[in-house]
Amino acid sequence: MQEDNGSNVKKFELPGSKAHYAPSLSFTISHMQLSIEPDFKSKTISCEQQLEVIAIQSIDEIILDICELHIKSVSSVDIDVAIAAHDSDSNNHIKELNFRNYGDKLIIKLDRMLSEGSIFRIAILYSAKPRKGFYFIEPDEYYPKKNLQAWTQGQTIESKYWFPCLDHPLVKFESEISVIVPLKFIAISNGKLLMSKAQRVEGISKKRNEEEKKKVFTWTEPNPHPAYLTSVVIGKFVERRETYNQDIELLCYVPEGKKNNAERSFEHTADMIRFFEEYFDTKYPYSKYSQVTVEDFMYGGMENSSCTTLTIDTLHDKKAHPDYTSDHLVSHELAHQWFGDLVTCRDWQHIWLNEGFATYCEALYWEASRGIDEFQYYMTQTADDYFDEANVRYKRPIVTKIYKQPDDLFDRHTYEKAVCIIHMLRNYIGDKYFKRSLKTYLQRYANSVAETDDLRKILELESGTSLQQFFDQWLFRAGHPELKIEFSVESKIVKLKIVQSQEGDAFEFPLDIKLVFSTFNRKNGEERGEEEIRTFNISEKENVLQIPIDKKKGKEIEWFSIDPQFKVLKTMSLKAPKEMLVRQLQNGRTVIERVQSARALKDHSSEDIIESLQKAVMEDRFWGVSVEAAKTLGSIKSDSAYMALKRCLCSSIKHSKVRRAIVRAVGEFKKEDSFDLFKSILIHKDQSYFVEAEAATAIGKIKNRQSIHILKKAIETASFQDIVAQGAISGLKEFVDDKEIAALLIKKSMYGNNHRVREAATFALGKFVHENHKVFNHLKNLLTDRWFRVRINACRAFADAEEPRAIAELEWVAEHDLDYRVTRIAEECINFIKESMKAPKEVISIREEVDKLKTNTMEMMQKMNRLERELR
Ligand SMILES: [Zn+2]
Repeated sequence: MQEDNGSNVKKFELPGSKAHYAPSLSFTISHMQLSIEPDFKSKTISCEQQLEVIAIQSIDEIILDICELHIKSVSSVDIDVAIAAHDSDSNNHIKELNFRNYGDKLIIKLDRMLSEGSIFRIAILYSAKPRKGFYFIEPDEYYPKKNLQAWTQGQTIESKYWFPCLDHPLVKFESEISVIVPLKFIAISNGKLLMSKAQRVEGISKKRNEEEKKKVFTWTEPNPHPAYLTSVVIGKFVERRETYNQDIELLCYVPEGKKNNAERSFEHTADMIRFFEEYFDTKYPYSKYSQVTVEDFMYGGMENSSCTTLTIDTLHDKKAHPDYTSDHLVSHELAHQWFGDLVTCRDWQHIWLNEGFATYCEALYWEASRGIDEFQYYMTQTADDYFDEANVRYKRPIVTKIYKQPDDLFDRHTYEKAVCIIHMLRNYIGDKYFKRSLKTYLQRYANSVAETDDLRKILELESGTSLQQFFDQWLFRAGHPELKIEFSVESKIVKLKIVQSQEGDAFEFPLDIKLVFSTFNRKNGEERGEEEIRTFNISEKENVLQIPIDKKKGKEIEWFSIDPQFKVLKTMSLKAPKEMLVRQLQNGRTVIERVQSARALKDHSSEDIIESLQKAVMEDRFWGVSVEAAKTLGSIKSDSAYMALKRCLCSSIKHSKVRRAIVRAVGEFKKEDSFDLFKSILIHKDQSYFVEAEAATAIGKIKNRQSIHILKKAIETASFQDIVAQGAISGLKEFVDDKEIAALLIKKSMYGNNHRVREAATFALGKFVHENHKVFNHLKNLLTDRWFRVRINACRAFADAEEPRAIAELEWVAEHDLDYRVTRIAEECINFIKESMKAPKEVISIREEVDKLKTNTMEMMQKMNRLERELR
């Protein structure tokens, strides 16, 4: 079953991919004591570690994962408590042990053979100047305002850069971590704060002592956690503290001066804990929950056990709040405390058990706090994000052990597709059994590890439903149903032809069809609407469904919808009489139904359709439907569609997400006529940064040189996440022949500008690369930039330019970059350029196809940028 979409799977499995299995263990680690003293000047750490080790087999050596650690000594402490009970001499015995480094392994020779079940301690003294895993952040002449901080990031396999461990999710241990920091700092780690006390330095003057005094923070976590969820964060923070249920401390740490923004980001944390505890019927597993925002963080957030680390970019001002919420990120990391931390995936191939569930929990909290409309639109967008990856990058089974680096798996299959599959599962077995299964799963595997089949067995046990086919089809097989649906009514029969057009075998699933009838009562002249939902089992590639209508009762079919609750992940192209689609748009009860019709109407362009879409933009009760209607109008390239959108733009629509969609759709027409509208938004400022950003991109597309000075001004606008500047850069990149703009973008991409501005400018430079040698050389330099997202965007800029001259440089990146996300993108970009070279450019019609594909790819690349950043 895994064979279909084979070529697609290969695109995921880059050369060098192989099968990965969980390791065999001859011993395990049960407890780690770690004392760590960072030196901010030399960016080094000095550490003392004690590991409590349990022999699973008889052993005389142990092998630990390390990377670039300088091991000074290894000794046994209190060796073999089990034996010690019979041998008083070995009590508290400290003995130097022989060790050697071999690649990324530390091999420790024990001084005797230890029998199965023996427990012993080893102490390791070491230092490191970590290039990964442990990061020092400091101000410099380019970024003088940056806060001095240090933080760790273990996932996936980077903890071995700062402590010896078994760097695999399978091995979970208790911890006690002490961090010695200058007095002005605090240090946050896993678990409860055991103590924090100042340390006097002996033998120096009182004054110097005040300057050099240090403080020790000791944190202890009695719940076992894997190496990758071990965390230390050091810095100057203000603390926000509350107590949940009288016994769990909720702590937030943000840089000084950001306290008000912290309120906006973290105000719902307690409410979220309450919601999850109730939904899972399982208490929050740890004694505290801390959230700390740090500088230069590479992800949205990281769910370290009881102490989440978050990007500082989630803090936002009042103006950004209607467009942006931290709730998704905060609820995601919090949900991980159960799904990922309390129960950890047994191996990276099962990472969807962490990420799919944490992301679905975001949606569950969203549903509980914002209602069903928001939830359904969230699911629609989630599915769209997965379809983008499936269309442009690859399709792969969600569970796969074949990959190059575990980081490869952190894509939209693990997150977005898995969310859709979990939602299907919830609908397939019903809410009651779904919730019950989650509870059983969390309790059975608490403080342990689980794999995909463990979850399946519990779901089967709790619901009585056989789920092997479901799991085979949706988790172990690539792709999804791609449905082509034709609707017709022939005398008294509704006919639906449903074709599964995807490559390979048919999927099998139940599909709900909703039919809405009007019944005319001749006696009293009343007309009533009546609806009926029928569920059909779809199992063939071609299916014809026939539904007789009881016309004796004066029934007429008014409209219909497919899968009105979104119970099945699928793409759909729908052919139906336009009147029915319009009625669906106007009367659909669920957001899913109305979005479905708004999208299906893209193939129609008559005046009445334009009018209905305009009405949906202006009047639908849910903003997401308005957004979809605006998008459809944008894709109907007629004058009247344009006029309708302009009317929407000039109306009094308040919702900023709808206004954004309208501005973008108007921008698609690239009409000189809309120049003043966009200009006015940019000059007079909008209530929303995002609308301004959209206007900046749109005005650029008109290619009127008068917009250049407006865009140059917009680049300098301070906004949340520099969103306006990013929009302006995207607008400026339309002026590909302008050397001055190329020079400006080079300047904006340089070290010293804000990250997001640099990234946007770097990507935009791809448009200028062909005719401009300076740009080419500059992009080449950016391939080795300090900030990894600039490196990623430099790769993408070359791909966007289909620049064969860059292949050798990209190959160097693919082989040498330290960051696996960068090496992966470099490889994909090389493949993209090579493929574009093969395209028969002389054939215009094919060329157009290629261009279309390329536009999709580039839009996808830009969107990916956004999503990758949100990886959480
Ligand atoms: Zn996550």
